[in-house]
Amino acid sequence: MAQAWLATGRASDGVVLTAVTKTQPPGAIDAILAAGQRVFGENRVQEALARWTHRRAVVPDLELRLIGPLQTNKAADAVALFDVIETLDRPRLAEALATAAEKAGRTVRVLVQVNTGAEPQKAGALPEDTDALIAQARSLGLIVEGLMCIPPADEAPGMHFELLGKIARRNRLEVLSMGMSGDYETAIGFGATHVRVGSALFGERNTSQTASME
Ligand SMILES: *Cc1c(COP(=O)(O)O)cnc(C)c1O
Repeated sequence: MAQAWLATGRASDGVVLTAVTKTQPPGAIDAILAAGQRVFGENRVQEALARWTHRRAVVPDLELRLIGPLQTNKAADAVALFDVIETLDRPRLAEALATAAEKAGRTVRVLVQVNTGAEPQKAGALPEDTDALIAQARSLGLIVEGLMCIPPADEAPGMHFELLGKIARRNRLEVLSMGMSGDYETAIGFGATHVRVGSALFGERNTSQTASME
């Protein structure tokens, strides 16, 4: 199914396919660009800068989405490169993004990442802290478009997707970035508007890199 999206970047039901290109070689990226894919997700700011700065100059209709954790000292770089930052997860980062946005003279679109499983090692705001973070981000002038989550690897994802949808509805948010190669069909069933797919499009990554992102 993911392959069929390559022509347009959209499934027939309007779900946006974010192609996750972290660790992919240049040839794979140029091939999927040539196939028409325009929405891409990257985990790391420096890696994304190296990969996309020159491509952006030749493909102006790209949409780049940051899907990995962001340090406050990289907020300005992230604001300069990415169209959407999906990993806002704490008040200090909201402040850093607002400052960077003001300096750059532009608005910043964000999703709030929610740690739906309250896993100690995982990024994301705790579900009970999410409403306050959304309110803070809005008051700072960030454009909060929706929510993102990565469910615990060892649990059925459905209840996590459901929780994300519930938090989105009560905050009047439309975008739900949820679902990866292993569970995007489930996520679409729970109302995902964006799925982030890497290995199902490109093949397996080097496993040490996969582990390091989690
Ligand atoms: C790597 C990554 C993905 C894609 O994972 P696959 O299982 O390869 O589809 C999606 N979201 C995030 C946040 C990731 O880090």
